[in-house]
Amino acid sequence: MYQWVLKHSSGKVRTMAIQKNDELIIEIQDIGSDGEGIGKQDGYTLFVKNTVVGDKAKVKVMKAKKSYGYARLVDLITASPYRVEPKCPLAEKCGGCSLQHLDYAKQLDYKQNKVKNCLERIGGFKGIEMEAIIGMKEPYYYRNKAQFPVGKDKEGKVIIGFYAGGTHSIIDTSHCYIQAEVNEQIMIKIRAFLEDYNISIYDEAENKGLVRHVITRVGFTTGEVMVCIVVNGKDLPHKEELIQSLCEIPHMTSISINVNKEKTNVILGQKVITLWGQPYITDFIGDIRYQISPLSFYQVNPIQTKVLYETALDFADLHGEEIVWDLYCGIGTISLFLAQKAKQVYGVEIVAQAIEDARKNADMNHITNAEFFVGAAEEILPQKYKEDAIRADVIVVDPPRKGCEESLLDTIIQMSPDRVVYVSCDPATLARDLRYLCDRGYEISKVQAVDQFAHTTHVECV
Ligand code: SAH
Repeated sequence: MYQWVLKHSSGKVRTMAIQKNDELIIEIQDIGSDGEGIGKQDGYTLFVKNTVVGDKAKVKVMKAKKSYGYARLVDLITASPYRVEPKCPLAEKCGGCSLQHLDYAKQLDYKQNKVKNCLERIGGFKGIEMEAIIGMKEPYYYRNKAQFPVGKDKEGKVIIGFYAGGTHSIIDTSHCYIQAEVNEQIMIKIRAFLEDYNISIYDEAENKGLVRHVITRVGFTTGEVMVCIVVNGKDLPHKEELIQSLCEIPHMTSISINVNKEKTNVILGQKVITLWGQPYITDFIGDIRYQISPLSFYQVNPIQTKVLYETALDFADLHGEEIVWDLYCGIGTISLFLAQKAKQVYGVEIVAQAIEDARKNADMNHITNAEFFVGAAEEILPQKYKEDAIRADVIVVDPPRKGCEESLLDTIIQMSPDRVVYVSCDPATLARDLRYLCDRGYEISKVQAVDQFAHTTHVECV
């Protein structure tokens, strides 16, 4: 058991093993990957939720392992200068914003350091000069997509809101400080509808009941609003009354149900039935217009997405003659951005529906120099290179968190494009993949972090 030197408030010093229920006074020196404070003393690490770098706090140990443990905040002795009052009264409980109690400038520092640390520790890169992280001017109400779980409380009252951190218990709320503001009206109307018509609510444990989730999407430039109700069934009783009520909301564009009868944590099923209006909404990023349906992947922070894509375009350094690949292209968002300045863009994406959307988006914007392929990037790229001899001047990748397959990186090295632009949502796998490329001839020339997810620990990077 680890030996702990304890300084009692009386000034007495004693040595003992850290145990569950011990109360200690520690200083918080760092922020963990889930936003929790990290206190270190004599090599022992304690993770403490709801604390901030610079706090001096009395904490109670909840779980003690050999060299680290988890503790709960009991009393704040000296509050950190970086501590702020969260705007949202539910921030502490809700699983959505783990950093709202930290000053936004400090949040940005933390994210910048997170990327830097990954590049240094995982990638083994030394002395990389990063561009200053680009934060939001107004880091609230930035999300264009919300997913509200629906349930019932102990008294049988309908509750809609967000999951409490690390659980599936629902915090009932209509107002979220990082979501589009129109969601509040939508939630109030849907809660009233479910109560007034006594609509059956889904029970996760039993896999019974009808209404599971409410999904909303808002086009920030067009104002168009989409509501999709996820149901464990094929229809929604009294849907006419719901449509009538939701249509009182300005710019309501699409109302649908999504069929999900599975006993699963996956929110959406494969089938969408439009109840009213169009099956999609449209939105712009820069000059490019995109159609977004309930099932398509679309970046959730449109203001920062523009910044992110402009950075990718800038780093790609296109002059009009280049052959460009956009791997992991989703609905072709980055591809169409690049197509404005390249000779030809090829997009690759594993989800067939997304490629259908990508082609539709290209047509809608009269873009003729973008071609899209369905399949795994690590299969399509080598095939197109070897069989069809398609080359690349620039390759852009935007993989999910697990990063790129080694076989894909090998093909990139063989094709030897002048520039690789790596858009990443996980700095750890980014650092790993950059190491692989840099051991085989590439060099890092620019690193730009962009804050897409204010008040959370996530960071996006180009
Ligand atoms: N560039 C897009 C999407 C990025 S998200 C945008 O900015 O909107 C990552 C995408 O990679 C998802 O659309 C996912 O479906 C896709 N994907 C996951 N694994 C893949 C693989 N092996 N090959 C190609 N695409 C993949």
